[in-house]
Order: sequence, then C-alpha cells, then structure tokens
Amino acid sequence: MHELACPTCGTSAQYDFKNYLFLCPFCSETFKHDVTSGEKEPFPDHYIIPNTLAPKAVRDMVIEWLKRLHHNPKMVDKEYVIASVEGVSVPFWVISLEAHTEWSGLAQRRSKIHDHGSGSDFLNESGKFRRTYRWAVNARHNICELWGIARMHEPKEKIRPTWDGFPLDSTFSRGHIEKSASDRSAYDAKESFEFKFANGLPISGVEVGEEAAIRRASQHIDHYHHQISGQYVDFLVDCRTEVEIAGIQLIHLPFWHVTYYYRPQTALRHFYKPVVKHVLVEGHSSGVLHGQLALTRKDKIGVNAIVTGVSAVGLFLLGAAWHPAFFFVAAFAGAISVASLYLSAVKSKAPQIAHSAVTSGKGGDDIFENTRVEVA
Ligand SMILES: [Zn+2]
Repeated sequence: MHELACPTCGTSAQYDFKNYLFLCPFCSETFKHDVTSGEKEPFPDHYIIPNTLAPKAVRDMVIEWLKRLHHNPKMVDKEYVIASVEGVSVPFWVISLEAHTEWSGLAQRRSKIHDHGSGSDFLNESGKFRRTYRWAVNARHNICELWGIARMHEPKEKIRPTWDGFPLDSTFSRGHIEKSASDRSAYDAKESFEFKFANGLPISGVEVGEEAAIRRASQHIDHYHHQISGQYVDFLVDCRTEVEIAGIQLIHLPFWHVTYYYRPQTALRHFYKPVVKHVLVEGHSSGVLHGQLALTRKDKIGVNAIVTGVSAVGLFLLGAAWHPAFFFVAAFAGAISVASLYLSAVKSKAPQIAHSAVTSGKGGDDIFENTRVEVA
C-alpha cells in the first residue's frame, strides 16, 4: 500500500499499486497514476449501477425463488436453510460495439436423390449478419472470485459459451421472479461513480485496463459468432468477424451471492447429506442470474439406490427367516439399487450449474453437440 493525495480533493489515502485505477474513498474520484512520473489523471468514464437490495430482501427473494421451483412450496420454509448472503460491486468494462460476420460453408442435401457419398451431396451456403452489444468484460484478474460470474452469458441460440464476457442488457434483464417494476434498463440506471450508490456493498478494485478488455471482448464475439455461423451449415468453411468499437465505459455492477442447503423433513433426511448450493443474484432488479437446484436428479437417484439397497437386505433377511418368496422381491430391489448406483455415478459427470428455471420455463442446460470436422 502506498500513500497518495487525490488529484481532485487533495486528501491523502492508502492505495494498492497493483490496481489499474484508483478510487478516492473521500470524494469518489477515479484516477490513473503513473508510478514512474508520479503524474495523476482523473478518469471520468466510471459509472456504477446502484445496488437496490439489502441482505434481508435478497434472502426473501431466494426463498421465494425456491418456492416457485418446489413441488410443495409450503415446505420450503422448513426444509431450506439460507447459509450466507453476501454482496459485492464488481468492476466491468462495458464495450459498445457492432460486429459484422460473414460466413460460408457446406450444407448437406436433405433429399436422398444424390446419395452417392460424394461432394454432390452438399450445397454451398453463405451469409452475413451483424449485431450490436454492450459487451461486459470483468476488470478483475480473477474472473472466478465470485461464484457463477465467469459464465454469465446465456445465448438464445443453443450454444454453450466458453467465454466469460456477456451482453449487459439481456443478462441484467433475465431471471426475474416478479415482473420488474421499472422498464428502465440496468444500463440506463447507471450513475457517475460514487461509493454511496453501492448501498453498503464492498467495492472491488479495478485491476484490468481497457486495452486488454477490448482485446478480450473481440475474442469473445469472434468465438460466439463463429458458433452462430456453425449452426447454419454442416461444415463451416470460412467465418470472418469484424468488430467496430463505438465506446468503452467502466461500470461497477452489483451482485449478491447466496448459499443455502436443503434439509428434508421426510425419511429422506437420513440418507441425504446436505450440500451447499449457490445462487447468484444481480442487485439492480434482483434477477436470478444462476441458481443451483437443491435436489438434482443425481441426488434423487443416489437416495433411491440407498433406499432400495437397504430394502433388499431387509427383504433378504425376511426371506431367510420366514418365506423364500421374499428372495425374489429382495433380488428385484437389489437390481434397482445397483441400476440407481450406476446412473448416479454416470450423472455425476453432468454440469453443475442449473440455469434459472423460473421465468424461462426451462430447467437444466441446453444440450450442445460438438461437430468435429475431419480432414482426409
Ligand atoms: Zn478525492
């Protein structure tokens, strides 16, 4: 930590030189500081989307979210325990850009007239499209420091993102349990940066510069548009994306990370080991960005394996002590138990994050198949 005087209000404070920008704790000024020359320069394009939630409201909202997903909402208050509620305001570079993509490739003929297994089975296809985004790129070195924050983009196409950037507008308008009271987008609600707009949330420092952010955004869009193009054809031959940057702003975005666990009231509780689950909420209009479900299919199958396994042993003992007919039932229960154990083991390889299923009406992940092009 080093002591520096703020270029605007002149008050001295301690600053961490590993940060890219410095935030004056007294007047909220954002400034750059050249360590070698000692020169300081205010950075005006810094905004914050106000946090509008308090811990209790977040907690109530997550309970409500669980009720919507639970087959018996009345049991939620008894069976679910909120373990922690923590908020943080994280800096993002928000890059306004327009991306132009041109692609060409081969599409297999659907009719079987020319089924010779040769090149005549394919048609040349080409096209172009353009899209505009306000693309957000994390300004922290550790993009995983908050649960779920490294995979925020949920494309409307059946594509699984491998990038951490996301379009601000569609992301900060999804996952609402109630219809949002205001039509104003999160972006429109931004204010010039001042600590007070965090409403109690800690503010994370800015570690990444805009040059790296622009480079990363271009790579994200390139990957994304490449995958979109790949959906039009069976073999994507060429794909070029040009990105035009219209502007860049630094915006602190509010997030709430909630953990909870499920403690069943039924006989299930003897077999179910409570596991901490995560929910990520945006603090502007309380949309659920990511949420893990308490009892996944894998858990249910696992519990089933134990229950049927125990029954099988019990029935086997009955068979030995009382009537041989129980051996058959025991064998049946045992078979189900083994099958459940197998399924449970297989399912554990499935992805961990379930997307918010409330407003979109779909649970689980989209299935995305990779197409690998073999070159002879
Ligand atoms: Zn100051």
